[in-house]
Amino acid sequence: MSEEVSKTADLKNKESNKNAWLKYTDEQLKEVAELSEGYKKFISECKTERECTHEVIRQAKAQGYVDLMEQTSIKPGDKVYYNNMDKSVALFLIGEQPLEKGMKLLGAHIDSPRIDLKQVPLYEDTEMALFDTHYYGGIKKYQWVTLPLAIHGVVVKKDGTKVNVVVGEDDNDPVVGISDLLVHLAADQMGKKASTVIEGEDLNVLIGSQPLKGEEKEAVKANILKILKEKYDFEEADFISAEFEVVPAGKARDFGLDRSMVVGYGQDDRVCSYTSMRALFELDKVDRTAVCLLVDKEEVGSIGATGMHSRFFENVVAELMDRMGDYSEIKVRRALANSHMLSSDVSAAFDPNYPAVMEKKNSAYFGRGIVFNKYTGARGKSGCNDANPEFIAQLRKIMEDNNVNYQTSELGKVDQGGGGTIAYIMAQYAMQVIDSGVAVLNMHSPWEITSKADIYEATQGYLAFLKEI
Ligand code: MN
Ligand code: MN
Repeated sequence: MSEEVSKTADLKNKESNKNAWLKYTDEQLKEVAELSEGYKKFISECKTERECTHEVIRQAKAQGYVDLMEQTSIKPGDKVYYNNMDKSVALFLIGEQPLEKGMKLLGAHIDSPRIDLKQVPLYEDTEMALFDTHYYGGIKKYQWVTLPLAIHGVVVKKDGTKVNVVVGEDDNDPVVGISDLLVHLAADQMGKKASTVIEGEDLNVLIGSQPLKGEEKEAVKANILKILKEKYDFEEADFISAEFEVVPAGKARDFGLDRSMVVGYGQDDRVCSYTSMRALFELDKVDRTAVCLLVDKEEVGSIGATGMHSRFFENVVAELMDRMGDYSEIKVRRALANSHMLSSDVSAAFDPNYPAVMEKKNSAYFGRGIVFNKYTGARGKSGCNDANPEFIAQLRKIMEDNNVNYQTSELGKVDQGGGGTIAYIMAQYAMQVIDSGVAVLNMHSPWEITSKADIYEATQGYLAFLKEI
């Protein structure tokens, strides 16, 4: 047996690494399907951090969660949420024990790679109207051309009124998109490196071509402005205080002839966000406070007031203690330090088309369940969290006691590249944190793919964690 074959055999012998599909009863297969239907709806309707925040809060309210900042007192068993600027959200199920004993945190991010409009985006060129853009997060720019794209966003006018805009999702909506050069004239382009074949400054979104009658200068742009005014009641200057995100148009769908997978936009990291939320909703009572924390800006370094580097979460813990009549600075610090966290983000799924970048026994595979990454990072683990084995041992026991399929992985071969998550940021409070999550194919592409079994196992894993850690 070659070394490679023997390693594969080892994997199959490990109980935890078995393919989850094989263990499901008919009843469980129905649960897998039910969960994936809810998930597909969520990612089809929530393509921006704002849309995610609003939908998570809508669903939380239906589960009995109330706005923390509207409460004067809080007691064990209460369910509260905190909305951070409509772009990140924390849900708390208050535990029987004092907060200083620590919390059980499920963290994930609700921003995804996309193409943002610039502050002054609109222009006309050769009787075509276009939006100038700046992409957000790490993308292979060549993947985003010649696709039907939608525009999601918000305009805030000088008087403070907000206009929400979604164009391109309804079957009757138009879509927009970015053109690419015809192959017939692409001799120079085809010789370029993939990183420059489509340049960032050339990601211009085509939005119109019909001139406004009677308009002498830039009549196509004038026509677009007329439509924006009539339909959404905003003007060109209002783009300055707007946030528009250009994303793939269309719904998430079943993928594969066996319907075992989901294809959809923004699964990094809404797959971990949705499953974390669903797991928390399963519970009405906990010993230590359970938290689902969904943040913005992970794809650009977790900075800003709505990213994980913001102190908003620490502030909310202080607010919680205040409402429980139990606030002190030292107790806030203890609450954070005594916490345990699954910092969930997507893992690179092993891709049989590209085995060269993966090391087989330390890769994540479709169908083998929730993924735990002791470390992420790049070039000698740089920037990683590197979870403690004491914590990982607890998680192994919890997953196995609850019959949850789990696997371990690192982000590709050593020195192939790398990446980071929010894990190291929360670890700064000296809490136990590990990277976990769901394996994804086509990560950061317009259409990412996940396994329905992994979505189910992640939810079960999160639930087991909240019950037992
Ligand atoms: Mn990402
Ligand atoms: Mn991510």
